[in-house]
Amino acid sequence: MGSGKTQLFLCLLLGCLFQCSAGFVFWTAVVEISYLNSHNETTDKYCECGVFGRNAAVERAHGIVTLPRGDPKGCGPDPVYNRNASSPAWIALVKRGNCTFSEKIQAATRQGASAVVIYNFDGSGNTTTHMSHPETTGAVAIMVGNLQGMEIVKLLQNGTEVLMLIEVGSPHGPWMDTYWLYFLSIAFFIVTTASIGYFVFISANRLYSLRMHRRAERRLKSEAKKAIQRLQVRTLKRGDEETTSEILLCAVCIESYKVGDVVTVLTCDHIFHKACIEPWLLEKRTCPMCKCDILKALGVEEECKDAFNHNSPPEVTVITVAGGEAMYEVPLTDAASPQHYDNRAFEEEPSRG
Ligand SMILES: [Zn+2]
Ligand SMILES: [Zn+2]
Repeated sequence: MGSGKTQLFLCLLLGCLFQCSAGFVFWTAVVEISYLNSHNETTDKYCECGVFGRNAAVERAHGIVTLPRGDPKGCGPDPVYNRNASSPAWIALVKRGNCTFSEKIQAATRQGASAVVIYNFDGSGNTTTHMSHPETTGAVAIMVGNLQGMEIVKLLQNGTEVLMLIEVGSPHGPWMDTYWLYFLSIAFFIVTTASIGYFVFISANRLYSLRMHRRAERRLKSEAKKAIQRLQVRTLKRGDEETTSEILLCAVCIESYKVGDVVTVLTCDHIFHKACIEPWLLEKRTCPMCKCDILKALGVEEECKDAFNHNSPPEVTVITVAGGEAMYEVPLTDAASPQHYDNRAFEEEPSRG
């Protein structure tokens, strides 16, 4: 996967997670209680231990905590509390169970509760759930843990008046949840590791081939130098054809030969100044006159294909033409070269007749 694709994938993943999780945002509630203890001293306690319901109004509320009459679960159509709308502000504290969250909230708000606090089942410690109560939108309703709820219930049962203040806490979403954080971290880690691994692999591969290429080049160069030293070298003397001819020039420096010049004779029999042809061959490999690969001729790399006498056939593209029973292979060469067709039909039946 390319880096662009990886980034796109990551963006899509994060975008989807954010979109999907937007519907699961929940707000915590800060619950503060205050009451007079047995020594007539005011005790204040608070914790960010409440969770606003899914359909609740996320607002501040306060009042005297009130338990339902009889059943602590506060279900039923009858007036469930000893208070009404004209009482000073009060908050209903009910236990989870028996009926829906909506029914509990409705039973309390019908009688004028400013908020409803529902505490969890026995034995559930201080865990809470994100309540769903679609029939009661707009009411302040939070859930607290069983232990937190029971602590207040005991105070109330002992006749202590408890005042409660509910404040809006902070928003939480799946991306803030520990498991999601773990999941995201792991996903991010895997994607990052994979990307880094991929790039390291690619870079190492490139570096390796570059090093191999350079090594091969160096080896070839040293082989080439040794091979060039094996070429025949002559010092031109008075009377040699090269010194007298007007036509014979060194094709590299375009100068005529003089007596005393040191020349190199290539495998193709062309001659050049030694000082001119050696750097030329190291760079270009071929004879400047006839293009014969001199280094190949000297055994550096492959055998030299004789530039003057091609024994090996030239590379041609062959197309097969079906003509009746016979199959023809037509080489796609220049029109000038003589074309011949191999008839496979004849080859397949070599000795008939
Ligand atoms: Zn020259
Ligand atoms: Zn040549």
